[in-house]
Order: sequence, then C-alpha cells, then structure tokens
Amino acid sequence: MFRTLENMDFEGKKVIVRIDMDVPLDEDGGVKDDFRLQKAIPTLKYLKEKGAKQIIIIGHIGRPKGEVVEALRTTGVGKKLSELLGEEVLKFDDCIELDTLETHKFVLLENLRFHSGEKENSEDFAKKLANIGDIFVLDAFAVSHRDHASITGIQKYLPSCAGIQLKKEIEALNITDAQTPIIAILGAAKVKDKIALIEELLKKVDKILLCGGIIFTFFKAKGLEIGNSLLDEQSIETAKKYLGNEKIVLPEDVVVAHEISEGVENKTVSIDQIPEEFIGLDVGEKTVANFKEILSTAKTIIWNGPMGKFETKPFGKATKEIAEFIITLGAVSIVGGGDTTSAIRSFGLENKFTHVSTGGGASLELLEGKTLPGIKALEENMEKFT
Ligand code: AMP
Repeated sequence: MFRTLENMDFEGKKVIVRIDMDVPLDEDGGVKDDFRLQKAIPTLKYLKEKGAKQIIIIGHIGRPKGEVVEALRTTGVGKKLSELLGEEVLKFDDCIELDTLETHKFVLLENLRFHSGEKENSEDFAKKLANIGDIFVLDAFAVSHRDHASITGIQKYLPSCAGIQLKKEIEALNITDAQTPIIAILGAAKVKDKIALIEELLKKVDKILLCGGIIFTFFKAKGLEIGNSLLDEQSIETAKKYLGNEKIVLPEDVVVAHEISEGVENKTVSIDQIPEEFIGLDVGEKTVANFKEILSTAKTIIWNGPMGKFETKPFGKATKEIAEFIITLGAVSIVGGGDTTSAIRSFGLENKFTHVSTGGGASLELLEGKTLPGIKALEENMEKFT
C-alpha cells in the first residue's frame, strides 16, 4: 500500500515531482517525441488545481555520467512542457544550486544525472533535493526500478506519494486479478532475458504465444534447423524445458530473408523448412491466423516484445496485423516494454489499447513479479510520515 495524490494536502505546499523526461532530443535540443511528457501532464495539472504553491519538476535525460553534457540539458523539455501545460515553465540551469525559485508556478530543474549523487543515491544529494520542497510525488514509472536519489533517496526526507501515471502503470501491469482467460504475447531477442518473465507468466496466464527472435532457440531445442536466425545458444537447454508445456504456443511458419535490410526479398516457410543462410525475421500468416483465433478468446491480453524485426520493413507485418486485431476485441489490452510500445506507437495505435506502458525495464520487472524500489520506498514512506 502506498499513498496517491488524493491522500495528500497540497494547498500552499512546494511539491517536487519526479517525472519521466528521458525523451529523444534533436540537434537543437528540441523534444522529438513527447509521449512520456504528455503522460506527466495530468499530475502536474492536478497539483496546480489543488492549490500547490509551486510545482518543481525534476528528472533526467540520457546518461551524462555525473557531468554537464550540453546536449542533454532539460531546456527543450521545459519548452515542450510549457506548450503542453499552456503555461510557462521556468527552467533552471542546475538542480541543487538554485537562486530564488519563487517566481513561477511551474519550475523545471536541470538534468539530475549531471550530478553523480543522483545515480549513486548519495545521502547529501537526496537531502539537498528534498530541501527544495515540502512534499514529493513520484510519477516516473520508467525509472521506478532504480535505486536513485530522486526515486528512493529523497523519500527518506519528505512525505511522498505516487502520481497519476505511476499509479496507472502499477495497476495496469498487475495482472494477478485480471479477468481470465489471460493470453500473453511474448516476443523478444534473447531467451535468457525472458526466463523470469516466462516463469511468472506461466503462473498467471492461460496461454503464452511465443514470437520474435526467441522462437528460434525453441526451434533449435526441438531439433530443427534455423539457418542464420537469432540463437541464444546458452538457453537451448532451458527452452527444452518449456517445449511440452500446454500453455506455450509456438509459431507454425516464419518469414525468412537473406539479410536484414529494408525491402529485402523474403518468403514464408514452415518452421521445419528454414533454408540454410536464411534469417527468420517475422512470423508467417498461418501463425498470425492461429494467434488471432487464440486471442479472440481472451478477456485480458498482455503483450511484451514485438513479433518480428518490426523496425525493418516488411518484418513488422505480423506485429501490425496482431495490433490491429487486438483493438477490435473487447478484451483489456496491456502493452509493456520499450520496443513493443515503440511498435504500437509507430502504427499510431497507442490510444486504442487499454494501457501502453511508458516503461521498458520497469514494466518487465513488474511483470516478472518483482518489487520496484521506488514503490517499496513509497510503502515505507507511508509508515514513516503518517
Ligand atoms: P528485446 O530487446 O529482447 O525485448 O527484443 C526486442 C527486439 O527483438 C526488437 O528490436 C525486435 O526488432 C527484435 N526482434 C524481433 N523479432 C526478431 C527476429 N526474428 N530476429 C531478430 N530480432 C528480432
């Protein structure tokens, strides 16, 4: 149990809000993709409505490794937030050494990771951050699995709660009480990275539809030839363990090509007919049809990992077809993971799903049943600051 916005009194308070602002920037420092910033707006507006004296926005961009990197300043984020809020956000050039903050309702501090204390979670840095405000709101789901000063450290010194986006993410990605049947789609590159997820999903879902690059390790485990397709050699033995599992569904056919390049010649083959020198880069039509049939029985669909190498045309075909199919179903549809979110957004379908997560690593850890440090800190904070 942790506190959310409704449990706090913000009237006249200086509120520090940790948001997800790790967004791609162009050469001029402008924001190229504001998906994450859009998701921060409801909390920021709520705090203003509830009479907060000042809303101090903090976050990081990229990996500056404890030094000032000009290209990673938060200036462009400030401009974009001003646009989205319809009100000027005053940007500061540091996050600790500040002159008077009093002038604006919304202020934005500089990239937290310009200070090494952020990632090291130094007590001194966390204290200095906490000194700026009266209450802390954690709304940065994508980094809530990190034990950093602006996620966990600051919570030792200020009463804290979760913001609107963080709460949404935690609720959506918790499938323990989701309506059944629950069908999971799991596509990824490395089997090794997904073992914990497969184990957890097997406890909670009715079927796991495997796709993406991981399937070839399973085919190898079955004794099939996979040409030059992605192989996670060390995971062949692990894959064997799952082969007989009734919940696990493997593709029947795959799209193969000589190389990974835009518009390259390709063909669809049965999984036992993958030619030497060919790479499997997407699942085939028979598989898509079978997956659709299974998905149509679902009450809840949880999707982590694209079905093929979607970044290179035409290997995003199955991912797109399945995405377009899911949104026609009445099922609750949840997308977790950086690449899957990118794929869904590249099709312009992000608003048609029940939930498209802003977090990559964080959504994976949550789906694996792990406790995220940011959430644990919120729970402890509730005990400490009653
Ligand atoms: P992961 O990073 O492990 O979550 O895996 C996602 C990545 O796997 C994405 O970049 C996909 O494009 C890629 N991917 C999906 N299917 C394949 C495939 N058949 N061969 C190689 N890469 C793939």
